[in-house]
Amino acid sequence: MMLGFVGCGAALYPELYNSNGFFWIEKDLFLLDCGETTFRQHYMAGHFKGARNVTVFLTHMHADHMGSLGTLVVYCYLKLGIRTTIVFPDTEPLATVLRLTGVEQEHYRLFSEYGQSGDSRLAASAVQVRHHDSMVKAFGYLLSYGGKTIYYSGDAGEFPGSVRQKLLDNEIDEVYQDTSVEDHGEAHVRLSYLEEQIPKQYRSKVYCMHYDGMYMEQIREKGFQTIEKAIPSSIFKL
Ligand SMILES: [Zn+2]
Repeated sequence: MMLGFVGCGAALYPELYNSNGFFWIEKDLFLLDCGETTFRQHYMAGHFKGARNVTVFLTHMHADHMGSLGTLVVYCYLKLGIRTTIVFPDTEPLATVLRLTGVEQEHYRLFSEYGQSGDSRLAASAVQVRHHDSMVKAFGYLLSYGGKTIYYSGDAGEFPGSVRQKLLDNEIDEVYQDTSVEDHGEAHVRLSYLEEQIPKQYRSKVYCMHYDGMYMEQIREKGFQTIEKAIPSSIFKL
């Protein structure tokens, strides 16, 4: 598994904390989203000590995905002297929310595409996905580094056709997909939908996440992967 996780829960299932995948490249910390519990969990895990840069790929602006982003940005700027890099295609509403919540523009760098950041070690592209369309725009991310490519869904009511094709063509090494068992309409894909979309031989590359219940065994029975065991127990119990 290429990502670490400090949380894997859905918004209304706080037992598992907010879903947050992360990885390091040298001393640079990369987060996928920054929900309400995320800043504290990384802080308590000591991940900010010695971090040279912090980058957040934001999938959408629901609170369980960006609730502690402002605090993380201000902490990094005032305590570590780091301007957080934020990647989100829909820059204007995000900049407005940050401004209205007291986060100054000089505290962060905001890019609609990661390529604008000038870091060529990592390639990243956003894939727009359906998820509460009338309220917020949502994106998954394709990320390539160290010779591997992953897809991180954020919250999505679909597994995009372009990503599915890449998985079937063996161009993606790992998929992290929000998965529910109950019907949440367009908000999240269901396990039964993933079974239809992904043939058995590819399921070992697919990590289901963003749980709103303890249905991990059900996921594993279908041949998909789960991530909750990747969370160090010291973090899990905070
Ligand atoms: Zn959401």
